Amino acid sequence: MFEGYALGALDAGERAALEAHLATGCQDCAKAVAEARWLVSQLAYLAPEAAPSDMLKGHLMQTVRAEAQAAKRSTPSNGGIPFWMWAGVAALFVFSIYSAWNAERLRRDIRATNERAAAILKQRQDLEAQLESAKREAVILTDPASVNIALASNDPKTPPLEAKWHSKLGIVLTGQNVPVPSGNRVLQLWLIPKTPGGKPIPSLTLRPDTEGKFVLLVSNPPELMARTKALAITEEPEGGSLQPTTTPRWVGGVS
Ligand SMILES: [Zn+2]
Repeated sequence: MFEGYALGALDAGERAALEAHLATGCQDCAKAVAEARWLVSQLAYLAPEAAPSDMLKGHLMQTVRAEAQAAKRSTPSNGGIPFWMWAGVAALFVFSIYSAWNAERLRRDIRATNERAAAILKQRQDLEAQLESAKREAVILTDPASVNIALASNDPKTPPLEAKWHSKLGIVLTGQNVPVPSGNRVLQLWLIPKTPGGKPIPSLTLRPDTEGKFVLLVSNPPELMARTKALAITEEPEGGSLQPTTTPRWVGGVS
């Protein structure tokens, strides 16, 4: 207990007992106390607080206990989660929102790109179809195998129409200075069959442009040329009719 004595860490009873013994003049104990005091003085350089008084010790323990209590009490109000973890959760939350936003933006970009690609493809298909029609029209109009059909008008002031029928490629009907039908009404082409009593077979409809011009391609005529007696044009409501609702304005025999 010499080190405890030198540190001042003994309780009052132990200290009194040791001092009473030292007062008897015991040289061994006096020497041990001197060594302990030297040791403590050396330790003091390393740890100045290594020799707390009883009062200080008591005060220290009280403080530690109070802080332990305070820590226990304050723990539930923090939810037991330290600040750094909240910071981590917040960072993760922000990152999740960013990721979701980024993914949504990516989806929008992909959708827009697909729509653009589809529009370009559609445009290209339309152009190819137009080109295909133009080529077919050119062949029908120039091929000597095509049959010329002049469609005379029942009105002497209205010019005749011209048709060319290619047995494999179809009919091209052209007109110039054609009076534009009123409203949304259209001109409709009919094929008159050779069969006695055969009803006119409906074909495509058209509206001339503002200058009265038109070119109509009938790629798949509803009847063979060999079985068709004549071509006729009537004026019909928008969309055309299944059978003529007006008398023909142009008629031309197929020969
Ligand atoms: Zn002694």
